[in-house]
Formats: sequence, C-alpha cells, structure tokens
Amino acid sequence: MSFKIPRSFIDQLLAKVDIVSLIGGSFSLKKAGKSWVACCPFHQEKTPSFTVSPDKQFYHCFGCGAHGNAISFLIAYEKMDFMEALKTLAHQQGMTLPSGGGEKENKDESTGLFEILEKVVRYYHQVLLKSEQAIFARQYLRERGLTLAILKTFEIGFAPPGWNTLSEQFSIDKKQTERWIQAGLLIQKDLDHTYDRFRNRIMFPIRDRKGYPIGFGGRVLTADEKPKYLNSPETPIFHKGYELYGLYSIVHKRERPSYLLVVEGYMDVIALVQQGITSSVATLGTALTKEHLELLFRYAPVVVFCFDGDSAGQMAAARALDVALPFLGNPHEIRFMVLPQNEDPDTWVRKIGKDSFEKHIKTAKPLATFLVESVSGACDLTQVDGQIKLIQLIKSKLEKTSDLMIRYPILQEVSRKTHIECSVLEKALEHTTEGTLPSFSTVSLSPPTPLVKKTIQLLLQFPVLAQKVEGAERLKGIQLPGIALLLHILERLQHSPSLSFAALFEDLRETDYEKQISQLIPLQTTLSEGEAGLELKGALKKLLAVKKQQNVEDLLQKSRTQPLSSEEKTRLQALLVSS
Ligand SMILES: [Zn+2]
Repeated sequence: MSFKIPRSFIDQLLAKVDIVSLIGGSFSLKKAGKSWVACCPFHQEKTPSFTVSPDKQFYHCFGCGAHGNAISFLIAYEKMDFMEALKTLAHQQGMTLPSGGGEKENKDESTGLFEILEKVVRYYHQVLLKSEQAIFARQYLRERGLTLAILKTFEIGFAPPGWNTLSEQFSIDKKQTERWIQAGLLIQKDLDHTYDRFRNRIMFPIRDRKGYPIGFGGRVLTADEKPKYLNSPETPIFHKGYELYGLYSIVHKRERPSYLLVVEGYMDVIALVQQGITSSVATLGTALTKEHLELLFRYAPVVVFCFDGDSAGQMAAARALDVALPFLGNPHEIRFMVLPQNEDPDTWVRKIGKDSFEKHIKTAKPLATFLVESVSGACDLTQVDGQIKLIQLIKSKLEKTSDLMIRYPILQEVSRKTHIECSVLEKALEHTTEGTLPSFSTVSLSPPTPLVKKTIQLLLQFPVLAQKVEGAERLKGIQLPGIALLLHILERLQHSPSLSFAALFEDLRETDYEKQISQLIPLQTTLSEGEAGLELKGALKKLLAVKKQQNVEDLLQKSRTQPLSSEEKTRLQALLVSS
C-alpha cells in the first residue's frame, strides 16, 4: 500500500455497505432469525455454519472460524488485496477513493505490461512445444520426467538463443521499446539498441494471485551456463518479496488447502504437482519475507517449509526461522522439513513416492523443535558450558517475541534437551537478559481474561452504552490481558457511537490486536439494553477493583525491598482503608 486511506473514509464506506447483499451476490444465503446462513465457502461442510450478521456487518463461520467484514470477505473470497477490496466497495457505493496519486494511471500502465507478458508467455510456450530451436529443451524436460500435460499446465516455454528474437517476432518499434524494457523482457544496450533478457533458457511464467502474468524465471540447459536461474527484474508489476510461484494455481481452486509447502525452486513445485502434491509454492530467487508469510497464512493455517539437505538449504532454513518466529502462536502453525543430504523435493519425491512424501510433510518438525535443534548443534549439552551457551542462543532468538504461546513450547524443548526444569530456564532467561525481555507473562496480547472479555462483548453488543461510561481513563494501567483493546474500543465508540463492529474490526487489521478482537466477535444476546447497561456497570466496577488490588500489591511488594516514600505510604493507607 503506497498511501494510507483515512480512517474516516473507511468508516463511512463500511457504514454504507450491506454485507448481506455483498455476500449474497457471490452465493445464496438463507434467512435464519436475525442473521443469514450458508454452507461455508472456506471449508467443506454439509450443514451451514457460515453466518452473516446485518447488525454487525460481519460474517463468522462456527465451523472453521473464518470471519471478517465486507473488506475481509473480498480479500478472502474474491482473492483481492486490501486496496482492490476498498476500490470495489467504494465503486459499488458510488464513492471515490481519496486520491493517492496516479491510481488510474498505474492501472492502465499495469494493464499494458500484463498484455505484453501474456503475449510472450504464449509465444515462448509455442516455441517449446513446436520449434526446432527447442529440441534440446524438450529433451532436457523429458529427462527430468515432465509430461506434456504438465508443460501445458505450467505454460512452460523456451526463449530462443538469439539476441533480438522478441523485437523481430513482435515487430517492436522504437515507441514501444520502453514498455518492453519496463516489462523486464528487453535490456537497453545503448541509445539505439536493445537485446533480449532471456536467451536459450527454459521459461517458467510467473502469474500473480489473480492469474496475470508478471514475470518469468528462466533456467539454463547445461551446467556450465550461468546463472543457473535468471528471474525477471523488479518491475512495476513484479515484486519478488510479495509473490510466490505456484500460488495462483492453488488459490483459484474453490477449496482451501490444509497446508502450504514452501520449496526452493520452480522445478520443485512442478515436480511435486506431477506426483500429485498440489499445495506447494516457491519463493522467486529471494529469501522468504514477512509479506510472503502473511500471504501464505491467508490461504492455509499451516505452512511447512521444505529445505534441501545441503548447506544452502540449511542457511535458507535459518533465515526462514528468523522470519517465522514472530508469526507463531494460534492460529498459525509453522513446520520444518529438512530433506536428506543431496536431495531436493524433485529428486526425493520421485525416489520415495507421493504417499511417503506426504507422510514426511505431516510429521515435519514443529518450529520450536526445529529451532532448538538447529541452535543446539553448536553446543555440547553434556557440559554445563554447552547448556549455558544454548540458553544464551535461544535467548537471543526469543528477544524477537514476547508471546507466551510461542515462548513456552520453545522453553519446553530446551528443557527436554538440557534436562533443566522449565521454571529454572525461565529464570535463567530472565537473568541473562538484564531486563530487556518483557516478563514471561506478557499481558498485552494474550487472550483477554473473562472479565475483560465480558466488558468488551457488552460494548460490542450495545455500542450506545459507551456513551454512558464515565472516567474511562481510570481503566488505564490495569495489568490484565485485553485492557488496551477495551480502552481502544471505548474511545472509538465514545467518539463515533454509530460505528459498526465491522468498522472496529477494520481499525485493527494488521495490528497486534487483530487476533484479540477476532476472539471477541459479538454473540447474539438475549439481554435488553437496560440489562446490558447494568452488567456493564458491574463489570467496570470489578475492573477498577482489580486495579486497586494491583496497586496495593505493588506497594506492598515494594515495601519488602525498600522503604516507601511518605507519599506512597499515604496512598497505601488510603487504598487499604477504602477496601
Ligand atoms: Zn467455515
């Protein structure tokens, strides 16, 4: 996203949209009480558990947990990105997106580049299938075991050896040259001359998630040619850090895969498909990025990394580990599968067959196990020194995360290796960090406690009640999971009482709180507004009592190690008297 759409615009847009007719336009919904239901489009089921609430402007599946507002629906179901979803909704509502500069121009420009690439995809493919020039390429692919059907499915092609094949084939004139350079297909040699970027290579077209061609990967035929793989450069439509080879063919299927396998190269993806394993993707000659992982988790709950058994594979695994760590915790699951020495997915699946390969995917190592194993290789765990070294190495990895859900399994794993108890390890880790680690029980992002959850739920069910809450700032500083979210929701509703849950949810997209609010999707309630108001009052009172108790404990705790100041003594007395 190159610029930020103002929140007020998104609020207005979501207030206008009707999620029932939006979703109803994609598949049919049945009325059930105040809501509408259907069989979930995101998982397979026979009885409907996918529910759309017109009040909340929100959908939620009780089967698989898929949920979101109108924007989320377009992203998840129509495979749009965030900006496209906004544009689509705004267009439907007759609203114009605040100008971010050159939006339309960009679109026209991209369309032109897609068209050029589409022509070249078809041309290279025809050359591979039919041309004399591609005899060796065809032979090579046959030797690698690729069938004609697979060549067609992946539109594999061949770029002839000449330096000006494309200019001649497509009669590119001077005026058009610039576009072809932008598309990454021609390279400027001097003022008047260009030449083909890809020559004498087997060509793998790369398509984005919507199926538009955005670039190529080209592979040499013999081992002495360099580089072995050549990718399109970054262009206005091709950003390697955001794209994955093979994702298009996975996402345009109606059913979502239960896992996605990340492999290192195009040939791996293709070889796996040929063996019947259809859920793999490859990065495009770049290291895995945070954006890649976010993308993967949009389509599957489990991501399995598969790395070659050589040293390059080990390095790639270590990098992936660093990117993956902050993503841990529900509902994401990351696993690692390391192949035997000198094998890649292509060679190995052919050796052991589909079933065994799938078994290895299923039993791939959980991230915690893989992390500890890869780190402990450098430590002699029979010696105290080695154990300390391991703890320190783990410590440096854990600094990236404060999430208990992630830290705990890793500590358990270290404990298993070193035979040191978890509680001792916890202390050891705190000790070596000199206070840089947040305390082990991070309160901010864990699931809200029942009391906080109830308070938030009441506000979400009856947003008008927020107006009646006085002195919300007194809730600040309470050490309970979910308090920050509660304060945020209160503040938003006090300012804009008519906000829907959909708009509140939208605020938190891609923030640390997205997961928390997802667990708080408002339930149908039998309470009246008056009853809810009383409940809310009671819950807030209890929260303030918790705060008081925490203040007392803090002061008492402090008094055990150092004398309290007179101001603190007075405060403590006042707190104790009023309880
Ligand atoms: Zn579902």
